Parts: sequence; C-alpha cells; structure tokens
Amino acid sequence: LLGSATGTESSELAVVFARLRADFPIFERMVHGKPLVYLDNGATSQKPHCVIEAEAHYYARLNANVHRGVHRLSQEATDAYEGARDIVQRFVNAAQREEIVFVRGTTEAINLVANSYGVRFKPGDEILITGMEHHSNIVPWQLACERTGAVLRVAPVNDRGELIVEEFARLLGPRTRFVAVTHVSNALGTINPVRELVAMAHECGVPVLVDGAQAVPHIAVDVQALDCDFYAFSGHKLYGPTGIGVLYGKSALLDAMPPWQGGGDMIREVSFAGMTWNDLPYKFEAGTPNIAGAIGLGAAIRYLSDIGFDRVAAHERALLAYATEQAQTIPGLRMIGTARDKAAIVSFVLEDVHAHDVGTILDLEGVAVRTGHHCAMPLMARFGVPATVRASFALYNTQEEVDALFAALHKVREIFH
Ligand code: PLP
Repeated sequence: LLGSATGTESSELAVVFARLRADFPIFERMVHGKPLVYLDNGATSQKPHCVIEAEAHYYARLNANVHRGVHRLSQEATDAYEGARDIVQRFVNAAQREEIVFVRGTTEAINLVANSYGVRFKPGDEILITGMEHHSNIVPWQLACERTGAVLRVAPVNDRGELIVEEFARLLGPRTRFVAVTHVSNALGTINPVRELVAMAHECGVPVLVDGAQAVPHIAVDVQALDCDFYAFSGHKLYGPTGIGVLYGKSALLDAMPPWQGGGDMIREVSFAGMTWNDLPYKFEAGTPNIAGAIGLGAAIRYLSDIGFDRVAAHERALLAYATEQAQTIPGLRMIGTARDKAAIVSFVLEDVHAHDVGTILDLEGVAVRTGHHCAMPLMARFGVPATVRASFALYNTQEEVDALFAALHKVREIFH
C-alpha cells in the first residue's frame, strides 16, 4: 500500500488512474461551465462504459425473463444472470453460490435479515449495533424491536469516530441475539475491525451482519476470512447499476430462515392448501429480479478486479492523505472523523458556514460533494453537528480534483469572511 510505495510508484499509479477516467463517459460533461469534479462517491459512483454496455446488451440482445422459459432467450438471460452470481461469489469469496442473494441494495438486504432472521427475537432479547451506523442499519432493527419486544443496544464511538471496542465487548451480553455493524462508516470513513468483532460475537454464540456498502468499493472483502454470517452491499456504490445489491449469508443460516417476500420463483409448489419453498438462493428472490442490474454488477466487479484492489487502495490512500493535508490550509475547518484506519472519505465542517452553503458554492465550481447528515443522524448528534460536508473519493479521482476542492473551499472562506 501507499505507506510503502515510493514517490515514483505513487506518481506512476496516478498516471494509470488518470487514464482510467476515460472509461467513465460522465466526465465528458461540464457542470456550470466547469469540468465535473465528482467527489460524492459515497452516495453513488459513476459507471464505466463496460457496465453501461453490459446492461444495454442485455436489453438489446438477451431480454427475457429468467428461470422460466425453455426458449433460447430465456436460457441465455438465465445464464447471464446466474453468471453474475458466480462473479459475486468469487468477489466476496463465498463458499457456495447459493449463499449469494440478489436484492435491490444494502437497505433491502438488511431489511430481509431483520424481517426473516428477526422472527425469532423475543421480548428482552438484545440487538447490538454501533453508534456510526447508516439509518438503513438502524431502522430495520428498530422495526424488528417494535415487532418482537427486542431491545436495541448501541456501542459508542470515540472522539476520533472509532468504535470503542471495549464498550462493544461490554454490551455483548447473555441477552444479545444479533450484532449488526458497518464495515466502513459512510459519514466518517472509519474502518471497523470487523474480523475481531465477529470473533467476539461468535464467542457468545451471536451471529453478525456486516453492512459492506462503503467497504466493497475500497477493500477486498473475503466473507470466509471475516467469518461474518451476513454481508450486505449495493451495486451502485461499486461502479455498478442502481437497484441491484447483494446479501451474502451462510447457507446454514439462510436455510433455517423463513422467506421474507412471497411470489414467483421463491416457491417449489403452491396449492390453496399451502406451499413449499424453493431452494437457496431463490427462496429469497421473489418475483422477477433486476436481471439487467445483476449483469451490470457482474461487469462492474470484473472491471474493478481487472484493475486490482491493491492499486485502487494505494491510489485512494494517496488521495486521502493529500486531502487530509490540504484540509489544514483552510481556516476554521474541523475534520469530523480522524480514525487511524480510514477509507477515502473526508467529512468536515467550516466554522460559521452551514454545510449546505458550502455545498452550493462548491457546486458552482463544478465540485460535487455531499452535505447533510449522511443518513447517520445519531452520529451527527454524537459530534454535535447537524451536518457535515463530505468528499468521498473513487478510483477515477485525481490529485488535481483535490486541489479543485480546496481552491473552491478557499473561495467559500473569502465569501463568508
Ligand atoms: N449502509 C451504508 C454504510 C451506506 O453508506 C448506505 C448508502 O449510503 C447504505 C447502507 C444504504 O445503501 P442503499 O441506499 O444502496 O440501499
């Protein structure tokens, strides 16, 4: 990684990644007459040609429903859809392809587990999450608590925005029935020690769901090495399409869980007297799935894997280090989240300027950042701010774009002086 990369290596990397920009057609457009500086990758990433083409190819050449028809197109569509499942299986190193369930995104994956696994929660059972979760890893558990009488427990974060592991251990008690933690914080970039947390939970016999929405674009994920029970992520943050995501679950757990949604494809047999469920993963894929999306996600994973995570991580780490350094040149900038282990996200507030005003001025300079609570209101409350400005980097970002961000922030400072 960059820590050990020489100056020459990192500048060579910068050249390689600057060239990859040409794979993303969005960068051909201008915003307010300025080149687009897209630093809102935590919200969603831009798509390379190969992903757009993979989706278009499905609609133009293969379009048919899957798992249904004996006709040629249906078979080809099914092969492409199931081929994407194989790609995802390899990507996260799942032991079996049946452990990969296609869903709409991280949100749906977590709701699936909260509703299906959650049927076994009893009054007084505890579900443990952390203080840095996205609303989609809070609210489904709150709803499960309302349905079952279970209680939500929250492991706090320290002033750097890191999980206080000792507190997590303390809260992991005899009543804990489930743990749900994010791999990487979307609001701060903090990387959680997931393997360690999973081991601690397993010692208490408690299964763990990992929200990987912000991790998969930046970190090579191996679900078997993490030993997590569930892992959820979205395609659109991973250079893939919207409306497609993945729930990985250990087959023994998925097998023991009831279906969440009912409909076509998830059954083996139906009569008015009852029905029997289909095998994994189809038991959890009711109705016509996002076939084009799955195929597009497969193309995105192939694209990212061809580049290689080591190189992506080194490049993004260089951008993060540079942005962190540049942040010190802006008077009154307070960085929120200074974890020692961090993905390429900088979140900050500017003294006397609301985050939305910062975002609006940056937009006029062509710089797209996210401003707001980042769907992590409890975390914002923890730091005593209503909102932050978040710049989140991806493989196509450049050092010049970091310069553009900070030049625009200097302008904000001048305006609000
Ligand atoms: N979890 C985290 C950490 C996220 O950053 C996000 C999206 O921002 C989600 C969950 C929800 O993802 P989606 O909206 O794609 O379902």
